[in-house]
Amino acid sequence: MSLSFDPDRLDLPTGHFIAGRLVPARGELPLHRPSDGAPFAACPVADAGVVDEAVAAAGRALRTSGWADVRPRERTRALQRWADLVEAEADRLARLEAVASTRPVGQLVAGDIAVTAEQIRFFAEFADKETDDLVPTQADSLGLVMSEPYGVVGAITPWNFPLSMAGWKLGPALAAGNAVVLKPSEMTPFSTLYLAELSVRAGVPAGLVSVVLGDGPTTGTALTGHPDIGKVSFTGSTAAGSAIMANVARTGVKPVTLELGGKSPQVVFADADLALAARAVAHSILANAGQACVAGTRLIVAEAIAEALTDAVRAHLADIRPGPTWDAATTYAPIISERQIARIEGIVTTAIAAGAACLTGGERIDRPGYFYAPTILHRVDAASPAVREEIFGPVLTVQTFRDEEEALALADHPTYGLAAGLFTRDLSRALRVTRRLQAGTVWVNRYGRSRDHILPTGGYKRSGIGKDLGREAYLANRRTKSVLIDL
Ligand code: NAD
Repeated sequence: MSLSFDPDRLDLPTGHFIAGRLVPARGELPLHRPSDGAPFAACPVADAGVVDEAVAAAGRALRTSGWADVRPRERTRALQRWADLVEAEADRLARLEAVASTRPVGQLVAGDIAVTAEQIRFFAEFADKETDDLVPTQADSLGLVMSEPYGVVGAITPWNFPLSMAGWKLGPALAAGNAVVLKPSEMTPFSTLYLAELSVRAGVPAGLVSVVLGDGPTTGTALTGHPDIGKVSFTGSTAAGSAIMANVARTGVKPVTLELGGKSPQVVFADADLALAARAVAHSILANAGQACVAGTRLIVAEAIAEALTDAVRAHLADIRPGPTWDAATTYAPIISERQIARIEGIVTTAIAAGAACLTGGERIDRPGYFYAPTILHRVDAASPAVREEIFGPVLTVQTFRDEEEALALADHPTYGLAAGLFTRDLSRALRVTRRLQAGTVWVNRYGRSRDHILPTGGYKRSGIGKDLGREAYLANRRTKSVLIDL
């Protein structure tokens, strides 16, 4: 069966998912499809009362189901059944995701959705593997470090990979014995609603996964400031992350994990495998049209190979199939909104006016919707917004270096430190440079996330606090209690 579908004949769930059922709500925020600009739905906005209902239902579900206290393997099994159902329902999930977002349907089933299911399974396995510690104390006492869930976790996700970001949040929090109230982006709410519904069908107790729809200022603020939320887990922009931290500080003291923006470098040394580096650099710009937090948007290349490498990257960038996200043949994504594509245009135009050379792209693609051509900017001023700001679009800047020190100086961003790529055949250099790169993830002779969910992901500097994925993400959803028993 073809994955292509008719976007006008899709039954969209709309409302909030609370206590295991869809609670209908009036759409308030008009939504436009990125693929053709057509208005197609409206997102409800949960106010403080609705958020309160969801948090209360999550607390009740925790108490009545005993989710935190059951034999941990029971949590594992319920989450595994959910992951199986996510795969079985991949077609509907893919459609609900593709219609509103920038993710082409042809990339979703084997890509984002398979990854979401794997993430849930990966974290499910932690539930009965992590043990409490018996710690050395005086001989007449016994010391224990016990761990416990927080209770209700408040999670907020962005629009760029709605399902896999939901997997990052839900998998570890639930496996660790918590309930979650999740607010997806107001631009891409539908697939997350259905994901929550599937959790109940799989036997995860109703109420443990609630989804409230709405924007940041109203719904997000009510959720992060709710007194009965034990922990906040956020993925999105650095600006929103700061606002969330401030709100949490103002309304109560609780842990906050933040996965934020980036402006990641890809450093290519003269001895690198050029074909491999060109493919990796290009892929990072093409994937979701650069709308990825880890997009490697700053190419930092040895002067001697700069021309050969940029030519090879340009050739890859020409090989795209833009199209609506509901066409299975589409490989190149639209930009999420008119506002965002106008911002990309502004940054590129300003850089060119200031003297940058545009080697390819630099304009919209002439078709309905919001499509922007993959763009390479050379000789860009290091202080230009094109080099400094997270563009969140398919724009690669090129800077050249003469030696390792200069490469490291260029790679270091004053505020961001999410990821970095490094291409060289010299193992000593790879390790030396890796140690000095200020980034939460370094990829050597590759670029981009793998399916090795054991590797934690998270940023240095203002790219974030704490980690998603890996053992760290599971442990971040539990807190420790020290116990000392006099014998
Ligand atoms: P955004 O910050 O505008 O919105 C993200 C989410 O936060 C949305 O659900 C939004 O409604 C909510 N929100 C906004 N302001 C809020 C507030 N004051 N209080 C509570 N919630 C609030 O980001 P976006 O445009 O949806 O996503 C793109 C950004 O996300 C980029 O900066 C990207 O780098 C980042 N991102 C980071 C990672 C990572 O792993 N570090 C992964 C994906 C995306």
